[in-house]
Amino acid sequence: MTRVFNFSAGPAALPESVLRRAADEMLDWHGSGMSVMEMSHRGPEFTAIAAEAEALLRELLGAPAHYKLLFMQGGAIAENAIVPMNMLRGHAGADYIDTGEWSKRSIKEAKKYGRVNIAASAAAGGYTHIPARETWALDPNAAYVHICSNETIGGVEYHWTPDVGGVPLVADMSSSILSRPVDVSKYGLIYGGAQKNIGPAGLTLVIVREDLLGQALPCTPSAFDYKVVADNGSMYNTPPTYAIYIAGLVFHWLKAQGGLPAIEAHNRRKAALLYDLLDSTAFYRAPVARDCRSLMNVPFKLADDRLDGAFLQGAEARGMVQLEGHRLVGGMRASIYNAMPLEGVQALVSYMKEFEARHG
Ligand SMILES: *Cc1c(COP(=O)(O)O)cnc(C)c1O
Repeated sequence: MTRVFNFSAGPAALPESVLRRAADEMLDWHGSGMSVMEMSHRGPEFTAIAAEAEALLRELLGAPAHYKLLFMQGGAIAENAIVPMNMLRGHAGADYIDTGEWSKRSIKEAKKYGRVNIAASAAAGGYTHIPARETWALDPNAAYVHICSNETIGGVEYHWTPDVGGVPLVADMSSSILSRPVDVSKYGLIYGGAQKNIGPAGLTLVIVREDLLGQALPCTPSAFDYKVVADNGSMYNTPPTYAIYIAGLVFHWLKAQGGLPAIEAHNRRKAALLYDLLDSTAFYRAPVARDCRSLMNVPFKLADDRLDGAFLQGAEARGMVQLEGHRLVGGMRASIYNAMPLEGVQALVSYMKEFEARHG
């Protein structure tokens, strides 16, 4: 068996120890004689698995008791609709900050449900920075302010939490959740798909302040009404049981690494290795402004894009895969989520130096 260094933006690499444990438990979970996939979601075994996953997530995030942790489905793209349906709460519209492709997707969908005020946009700069808070034209009557904490495609990340006064802050954290500590109390709602940093695709996490629940638009599907989901312990309908189980194993793994402060230090070390190399040469270019660079997704370009194919081929031959940039932006992108070991980034950096020496 050979495992590659997988730089995919998502679905992405998972910790090897988690996959091994899941393999060990595949046919018979803890003497139950069943795979987790075969269990009733209302039986005692799975109820315990889900409760433990939720408790570990609450502990890792330090989420206060008045926040509900929901296990949902549909991914962040479904949340782009589910959020306005639940969060408009009688307001005419909401504020959105436009920092790239995923913000644009959120904005487009929200427009179906209410008025969208684009309070700030980084479009003019080619989505290479986060607009400074002083430039945001917020509407004091907005239902919420929506941000994308980490633009997975553009590689632009907030390294600060916006102060938006009394209006709830809503964040799409699909690609940065659990990569470092976050002060949950500064947010009204956090959501994210699991397949970047948490587990298998099919599970969506929602962390929402309790007092915001219960005012969904009448047309909201019951399975997507946060209050209904919360009141039923995320089991209004059958949840993605196996994905919740794997997420629980990942939460265990994260705790064993030392929790979010330790994983942040690890992630900063990995990202610095790559950005230091990118800054040291004109052969490669990092497009994003230094103070907004993502710790999770590192886009870069070869100065001569005719070498792109050779670069990717050489990487693959050395066991480093999925480095091709998103089709919308081209170039390369190294996604280095929690589960990417330091050795993977070291291998990439030494290959990049070798490639430059040969072609530069
Ligand atoms: C991946 C991603 C999405 C899309 O998520 P789906 O699970 O495909 O719905 C949305 N927002 C961000 C920031 C992402 O990284």
